[in-house]
Amino acid sequence: MGRAPRVKKLHIFAATYVVLSLALVATVYQLSLKSGLDQLSRSGAVIVEQSADRLIAQLESYRELTDLMARHPQISALLEGRSTTERTSEFMLRTALITGTKEIHALDANGKVQASSILEDQPQIIGTDWSGRADVVAARTRRMGVYHSADENGQRSYYFARSVLRDDSSPQGYVVVKVNMDELEAEWRIDETVVTFFDPAGVGFVSNRLGLALRRDETLERVPPATFDYPAGLIQQLPSYTPSAVGGVTLLNFPKDSEMPSRALAVSQDVPLIDMTARAFMDAQPAISQARLLASLSAALLSLFGLGFAIFVQSRARLADQLRLEAEANTKLEARVAKRNAQLQKAQDDLVQASKLTALGQMSAGISHELNQPISAIQNYAANAKKLIERGREPEASENLTLISEQTQRMGRIIHNLRGFARKETEPLEKVNVAEVLSASLEFASQRIKSEGVTLNATTAPEAWVDAGQVRLQQVIVNLLSNAVDALTDCARKEITVSLSKRRDQVQLVISDTGPGLADIERAFEPFYTTKEIGASKGLGLGLSISYGIIGSFGGLLSVENLAAGGAAFTITLPALSTPEAKNDPDIASH
Ligand code: ADP
Repeated sequence: MGRAPRVKKLHIFAATYVVLSLALVATVYQLSLKSGLDQLSRSGAVIVEQSADRLIAQLESYRELTDLMARHPQISALLEGRSTTERTSEFMLRTALITGTKEIHALDANGKVQASSILEDQPQIIGTDWSGRADVVAARTRRMGVYHSADENGQRSYYFARSVLRDDSSPQGYVVVKVNMDELEAEWRIDETVVTFFDPAGVGFVSNRLGLALRRDETLERVPPATFDYPAGLIQQLPSYTPSAVGGVTLLNFPKDSEMPSRALAVSQDVPLIDMTARAFMDAQPAISQARLLASLSAALLSLFGLGFAIFVQSRARLADQLRLEAEANTKLEARVAKRNAQLQKAQDDLVQASKLTALGQMSAGISHELNQPISAIQNYAANAKKLIERGREPEASENLTLISEQTQRMGRIIHNLRGFARKETEPLEKVNVAEVLSASLEFASQRIKSEGVTLNATTAPEAWVDAGQVRLQQVIVNLLSNAVDALTDCARKEITVSLSKRRDQVQLVISDTGPGLADIERAFEPFYTTKEIGASKGLGLGLSISYGIIGSFGGLLSVENLAAGGAAFTITLPALSTPEAKNDPDIASH
């Protein structure tokens, strides 16, 4: 894949991943928030229920007191004119003091106050008409009437009203009991959650936060505020809030300095017994924080995962790039190597060609040098012979012809030597016993050895089989013997030692002499290297190089060393054959 499409693909993938991650984080937030708020709503319902129960329980005794008073003979006595206002009022005052009730009043059938526990403080109360008050109206239908109000000082009171029945069950008057709400409320203050009871006009009448009582929330208004005769200017607004829809519910956002939680979940419950709505303002902040924490955690996890994945993808891409670059570099390198090889091959070919030409040049020089001499000698002898014949001196002319014949022989020898090169690879290899070839060679050379006064020491193994060309091997051995005899010409001690030995897998033939050794051993096998005087030479400096090539063609090696005691030692080493399959009888002497 190319780099550009891959980068584009990566970008699309990254964008998709980011969008999906954001969606996931948002979902986690919403779900967590919803579950948190649901839980909050459930706890709110419990708190509201408990608060309502508590308030009802607190009011219960006053409710029972109202019932009790409605049936008390003292009240009946008053309403039936058997007792006085003063006496009944005093009874009521006592009862109020004992029960902790704020006020107790007795009304006649028309709803006018006939006796009251506060007669002493407010005598003008007698005759006051309460017939229109909600509690009295309700009591007229034989229900427990309830009512609430506040005075100018903001002191709140809760009223119970009960009809006092005649024997025929018709109301002959009413008992009204007034409870001080502030006192009841006092023990609520330690509650953690804000709970307020709102009346039908939307006024928070009872609350566990003092600052929140007598504050109105018009959204909760079911009847006009005038229904309850709150003193003018007493009722204030609930701290203003803005609703916001969160996690499927509506949260109320209150200002920081209010006693409300800044983000509140309102849980409401109607309490018909006291004609109010209880409302708990649950703090939604922990649920929101928890949802945020969860969302942040999942965002962090997704980011980490994304990052890890990105690093993985990036490193894989880098590896692929690296591999591609390496492959490209390799291809380039291979191309360069191939080119360089071709150049080298050409250079080598050129060199071979050059050395061939050089060798050819040297050879031609050598050959022409070698042949020139006998040719010019022949020319001279021939011219002389011609002149001698012309002058009738035949015997002398005949001498010259003999000399010509000698020179021709010499030329023949030179050419014979050169043929060694040409003949080199024509003879096929066969199983050859070196011992036999050696003895034939020694026989061939024996005459010259003897005539030069050389002593020959030969140690030879009976059998030493190798793969070789019999004729060529003999040519090499004869050549080495002849060189050794040449080297001994001017020596006092003339000895040649020949030893043929067979090791496990090698056949070794050593020919050493007591001559002066090689003057320049490094050049011994170099073609045309010779120390012999050219005119007198019997070779061309080709003998050793041809021999070296012949032994090499048998898979063997021809080596030379100068002996410490003086003299040269040539060694022919050939791979030995253990079991000869064919054995040819060489006719060496005929060569
Ligand atoms: P040529 O005999 O025509 O000189 P060769 O290649 O046979 O050519 O020998 C090369 C040279 O190596 C000789 O000229 C001689 O200097 C040296 N050489 C060969 N054999 C011996 C030997 N046994 N002792 C000393 N020098 C030798």
